[in-house]
Amino acid sequence: MSATAVVGLQYGDEGKGKVVDWMAKMFAYVVRYNGGPNAGHTVENLFGKFALHQVPSGIFNPEAWCFLGNGTVVDVMRAADELSELRSRGIDTGRFRISDRAHLILSWHRMIDTLSEAERGAAAIGTTGRGIGPCYADKTSRLGIRVGELRDLEGLRSRLIAVRREKLKEIRARFPDVDVIDDIGAEKEVEIFLDDFRRSNEVIRDCIADTDELVRQAWRRGDEILLEGAQGTMIDLQFGTYPYVTSSSVTAAGACIGAGLPPKAVSAVIGIAKAYTTRVGNGPMPTELLDETGNRLRAAGNEFGTTTGRPRRCGWFDAAAVKYACEVNGADGIILTKLDVLSGFDELKIAVARDADGQPVYESAKGWSEPIRDKLAWFQLPDEAKRYVDRLEELIGVPIKAVATGPGRHAIIQR
Ligand code: IMP
Repeated sequence: MSATAVVGLQYGDEGKGKVVDWMAKMFAYVVRYNGGPNAGHTVENLFGKFALHQVPSGIFNPEAWCFLGNGTVVDVMRAADELSELRSRGIDTGRFRISDRAHLILSWHRMIDTLSEAERGAAAIGTTGRGIGPCYADKTSRLGIRVGELRDLEGLRSRLIAVRREKLKEIRARFPDVDVIDDIGAEKEVEIFLDDFRRSNEVIRDCIADTDELVRQAWRRGDEILLEGAQGTMIDLQFGTYPYVTSSSVTAAGACIGAGLPPKAVSAVIGIAKAYTTRVGNGPMPTELLDETGNRLRAAGNEFGTTTGRPRRCGWFDAAAVKYACEVNGADGIILTKLDVLSGFDELKIAVARDADGQPVYESAKGWSEPIRDKLAWFQLPDEAKRYVDRLEELIGVPIKAVATGPGRHAIIQR
């Protein structure tokens, strides 16, 4: 009947993977619409614990089709490895498809990502180093190579030779001190790429499809579609803390383009926010705590990047930023994750606004001492926890429809 977009309302890592895994059973299609292997989704369910980077978390629902949409960028070797691992652990991947319009991440993207970051020095973005920005840049410069081109490896050979020539020119011009005169030679290198693609094709060839058309057909049929966002609104290319952002459209508007649906197909937008704030990489984070409290949040929430292992910056909940993110996305409801991590803090702070200098204005909330991990009903929560959630809802002005109390699929309280 309609599509529901699930978007991150903070800086990524809000726990979208867990929520999508939980919601997926209600949908016939789950479509990832942006990002690439920069996203790390940790999913814990009946099958075990998985850290996925390229394959969407909807994969665990054997009933649902699970797509990487045209708005994503794909490291096909990684996708093939993840699929092989999932299959070896008994997960049915027969309904997984990759859009033939998604763009391929190639070795030069990773190289340019790393070199650009080094060149930025103190102003580095703190990217994941996965080649995401340079890959999207090539897409926009009309120099990208798309997944559909894997169907014809002979045709791909000449494309690789031509694009490689352009990219080497660019690398030599931008980074004259870097020795990129490869001793293996153009032809040999392209053959190595093609060998890699041949190997990944053994696993993913049958997964390459015109997912745009398949999703539109599903919409016309009236099937339920979940559009799964990666990253968070505050690092969205348009609406985030530019230039400290990722290079894709994270928001609900991006969901339409990246999945292949017209805007009117999206009838609900669910925003995901953590009960406090985290950020990996550089850029503004007004509520960051550089003290013991920040360390405590990091330890309690195990806040280390799924993709890079980097410690995440931690801080209080920023209701002003989340309200902005809800407005940008038109969020109808919020799922608040990791509430259990806040147990044991005497006092919690919430940023409710900004002062004239752009600094956060805080109000205090009373904390609670008892553990609430895996509580499954609202009435089981301490009054202070309920009040904290109610207050966030009031400040943001969007209903908090559910609260997560643990990493497992079922540790979610619906209100
Ligand atoms: P890139 O996406 O690798 O180019 O990195 C750009 C910025 O987005 C960096 O600050 C990254 O740490 C951040 N970022 C990218 N993907 C994620 C994610 O999935 N979660 C959180 N932060 C991310």
